[in-house]
Amino acid sequence: MSEAMEVDIADLPGVGPATKAKLESGGISTILDLAAATTNELVDNLNLTEETAHNLVFEAQKLLKDRGYLEKDLVSAQELFTRRAKMLRCTTFSKNLDGLLAGGIETQSVTEFYGEFGSGKTQICHNECVAAQLPVEQGGLGGNALYIDTESTFRPERIAQIAKGHGMEVESVLSNIHVAKIYNSSHLELIVRAMGGLIQQNHIKLVIVDSIISLHRAEFLGRGTLSERQQKLNAIMHRLKRVAEIFNIAVIITNQVQASPDTFFGDPTKAAGGNIIGHASTYRIYLRKAGQERKAIMIDSPMHPYGDTNFVVTEGGITDPAEGGGSKKSANTTSSAASSARSASKSSPKTQKASEESEEATTSS
Ligand code: ADP
Ligand code: MG
Repeated sequence: MSEAMEVDIADLPGVGPATKAKLESGGISTILDLAAATTNELVDNLNLTEETAHNLVFEAQKLLKDRGYLEKDLVSAQELFTRRAKMLRCTTFSKNLDGLLAGGIETQSVTEFYGEFGSGKTQICHNECVAAQLPVEQGGLGGNALYIDTESTFRPERIAQIAKGHGMEVESVLSNIHVAKIYNSSHLELIVRAMGGLIQQNHIKLVIVDSIISLHRAEFLGRGTLSERQQKLNAIMHRLKRVAEIFNIAVIITNQVQASPDTFFGDPTKAAGGNIIGHASTYRIYLRKAGQERKAIMIDSPMHPYGDTNFVVTEGGITDPAEGGGSKKSANTTSSAASSARSASKSSPKTQKASEESEEATTSS
């Protein structure tokens, strides 16, 4: 991986010092940042012509594809298999949740946790920042974490408790978590655009965005701005997915729920942000409270069977419910909870669109 990172952006065909400076002014300083950019984004933010922007992204992607860091447009199943073999899974410290995830949170993918306020999304994020630091042999990713905090809910004290609970050295765990506090949607867009350098310099193996939608949801109100908001979220999601693939890292995003008036039975909530977030997340897990426990439901996955399972949040982080306590279900069976949540999530394209458009009018979590 390192050779691709060592290629100077100015070595790409068509990039002179002026273009290089322009790219850097927009936070794009590595080939990887450029390869993960979208043409529109470069045109809008850097005043490049559409042709130049297109060529730049194309050349950066070509270089990465030639060197095997990015999937080629046409690859053999064997190549895909080799690539997937490099994929790592990060434990959640809960056997139940690891079971639901077929081993843990995957690298090369974006995993989305959505649920109501207090359902445990931020707790899982804290937990994973600690777990990711374990060596690969112990179920971690052997690397550091980048926590992009848009709701000001990151708490180092929680990290300390969780690290202590797992017998890890608190100071070192804390110093390996890089926290970016984000206060507005353009700041979030900027950090996501310029993430390549941060990831490399800080040996990041896990990126967290908690939450993906709160700032955009608060800033883009009203019907007229909804499509602009969706476009911006789309660029962020696209970028996160690319980064996960290129660096072989895990990306976790959290999402809020919106009331879903078209659901007549089951759980009347679904993920906010409409199709844009759902389609770009490789895995979507719905969280909800279940008495003292939390229920996690696999809503969408290209390879996991649908199912649900229970876990608990304790001082030491995420773990399994005590034996005999609560209604524990096997992670691999389709239960009614899973299917009702799924039907709320997978409404027909027509109703989905209608409810996306009316989202700003409905309640948020
Ligand atoms: P959200 O889904 O809104 O991000 P959180 O992940 O912040 O929700 O979950 C908050 C919940 O986590 C609290 O209501 C509490 O039940 C639980 N929790 C937080 N800290 C602790 C702790 N130290 N010990 C046990 N449970 C905790
Ligand atoms: Mg939260």
